Amino acid sequence: MSPDTVAVHGGRDDLGEAHVPPIDLSTTYRTPDLPAATASIDAMADGQPPMGSSVYQRLHNPTVDRFERALAQMEGTACSVSYASGMAAVTAALLAAKMVGNHVVAVRPLYGGTDHLLQCGLLGLEVSWATPDTVADHIREDTSLVICETPANPTLQLVDIRAVVAAAGDVAVMVDSTFATPVLQRPADHGAAIVLHSGTKFLGGHGDVMAGVLATDDVWGARLRQVRILTGGNLHPMAAYTLHRGLQTLPIRVRAAQANARALAERLASHPAVAGVRYPTMPGCDPHHLLGRQLKGPGTMIAVDLLGGYEAARGVMAAVGLFTPAVSLGSTDSLIQHPAGLTHRIVGEDAQAEGQIGEGLLRLSVGLEDVDDLWSDLDQALALAEPMAAK
Ligand SMILES: *Cc1c(COP(=O)(O)O)cnc(C)c1O
Repeated sequence: MSPDTVAVHGGRDDLGEAHVPPIDLSTTYRTPDLPAATASIDAMADGQPPMGSSVYQRLHNPTVDRFERALAQMEGTACSVSYASGMAAVTAALLAAKMVGNHVVAVRPLYGGTDHLLQCGLLGLEVSWATPDTVADHIREDTSLVICETPANPTLQLVDIRAVVAAAGDVAVMVDSTFATPVLQRPADHGAAIVLHSGTKFLGGHGDVMAGVLATDDVWGARLRQVRILTGGNLHPMAAYTLHRGLQTLPIRVRAAQANARALAERLASHPAVAGVRYPTMPGCDPHHLLGRQLKGPGTMIAVDLLGGYEAARGVMAAVGLFTPAVSLGSTDSLIQHPAGLTHRIVGEDAQAEGQIGEGLLRLSVGLEDVDDLWSDLDQALALAEPMAAK
């Protein structure tokens, strides 16, 4: 079935008489048949689905399960395991990796929170920092996971998933595909073992739900469910319902916002206040020719370097009216933020330089508003930045 059809119908095969998935808020479930409940709890402790009773919400929840089945269908994976936020999902993946080996390879640039979690040593993992080209050099006996992100946040750098998978050999590769969504990219089709989404972004899509989800095979799925049972960080059923509903419009939201972003990227590129635009269709932004082959479209995120540096970026953030100056992305409305000052502040200065996150860089998340209204807003805000560029 076409991805658009899967988006609408996924995870809805067990509804019975209901037309819309019911929201099951029970924290506990009746267990009148003790031996059956014991068998079910044993299965779930092994990371398997329940055998009958869900027993307790931290172990399993039917509303959450329906969202997970729908997302897995969209990513083309055996299952998915969801969490209370993207960072809870990253943490669960790293803890699951520890069950396999204590060393991970991380390809920069990564989301600021992921970078910081790996760097700060909290989870006791040994981390080697790599570029896509040096992954193979860092693989060891005890390497359990290679982590990369494409398109990367906030630079829109594109990573060839097949090349990283080949370099990783037998080691599992996790791809943060938040920027692409399953509409534009399915990393598992290219050999990724785990696909990460911050569901807070496009999957929910309306800026009102926090979530994280990992789409994967049955072996990693079992480990990830075990970690979730042990550490909590579960997705709330109300959030799961909202996400499941959001998936239905994901393809049309992404395509409409992408059409806006494509037009804005072109107009920005010829604006006198702009030093450069990073967007997959722009010259030099897709050196491995991944557009079409790995990434179905350039997406809805734009990174723009202003000639006027920090002062110009500050001016634009203060002057926009229709764009909301705010972190996060993937909502129906357009957002603009300054990575060096906000999302990537906790990433060290070296990492900022490596990832080319300069003081004049702004990141745009383009929404569903009329494209000319969006351009008018950017244009008037950039006009204020122009005199600073001339200095
Ligand atoms: C937001 C984000 C995360 C973290 O997700 P939260 O839901 O905020 O915890 C991870 N990766 C990327 C690319 C993100 O944009």
